[in-house]
Amino acid sequence: MSDKPRIAVHKFSSCDGCQLAFLNMGEDLINLAEQVEIIHFAEAGPVAEDALVDIAFIEGSVVTAHDQQRIKQIRNNSQYLITIGACATSGGIQALKNLAADAADWPAQIYGQPQYIDSLDQSGAVSDYVKVDFELWGCPINSAQVVELVNSLLRGVSPIDHQDKVCLTCKQEQIVCTLITQGKPCLGPVTRNGCGALCPSFGRDCFGCYGPAENSNTIGLANRFAGLGLLPDEIQRRFKLVHASASENQRIIARDLTQDLAQDLAQESSDE
Ligand code: SF4
Ligand code: SF4
Repeated sequence: MSDKPRIAVHKFSSCDGCQLAFLNMGEDLINLAEQVEIIHFAEAGPVAEDALVDIAFIEGSVVTAHDQQRIKQIRNNSQYLITIGACATSGGIQALKNLAADAADWPAQIYGQPQYIDSLDQSGAVSDYVKVDFELWGCPINSAQVVELVNSLLRGVSPIDHQDKVCLTCKQEQIVCTLITQGKPCLGPVTRNGCGALCPSFGRDCFGCYGPAENSNTIGLANRFAGLGLLPDEIQRRFKLVHASASENQRIIARDLTQDLAQDLAQESSDE
């Protein structure tokens, strides 16, 4: 990497929320601007989409044929490529269409002139198309993640891939558990931390926006949700919301939960 690394922030199909995590860095953004050369960041001003850079940050999923070409070109132009946010890391909320049998009919139901909509059948993660060097999960990511990542890269240290569960943060911060005390279907036990247990800190159940944590017992949590009274379809909707295409969530989404849960509950009753 050169003395003053050249960085680019590219946008694909997304809401821009993760780029705002850069712009909301406050004083850290001023420090960052002194340590790196921002070559391309259209939302902040500089535009040089085809420039060679040391680090390319990618927000958004790949949804058009043009996106497919563009991500390959950016990969060729970048020493390191890092995805930021749910859309770029797993396809995002828009990957719900990957599960629908009738997704091809959606444009006609949504747009007045659907003939102008030119999109792929699937919303793809960036890693479906090119090698990704590091992924920052979250919908959206937060500024603290960006600061930690950039500081690591500038000092030549491997960034930490936070894969512990949101529950760990609840325990560390002494946040009262929404699952146990309120009977809410919290996804914290299977979701990677990094958000500071934001939702439970306000008494809300986690809906999984930071993506699957490692070694998650998703079927065990699905069973717990069934015990709370959720129907199989309601349980699967919890896992579909933000990261429908993540492989760990797919294990629950693709299963016939009706049969699974009936068997598990029958087993539990016979054990009692
Ligand atoms: S509120 Fe959710 S994330 Fe926090 S400890 Fe309970 S189950 Fe885990
Ligand atoms: S608690 Fe869950 S849904 Fe809320 S911000 Fe954190 S990961 Fe996202």
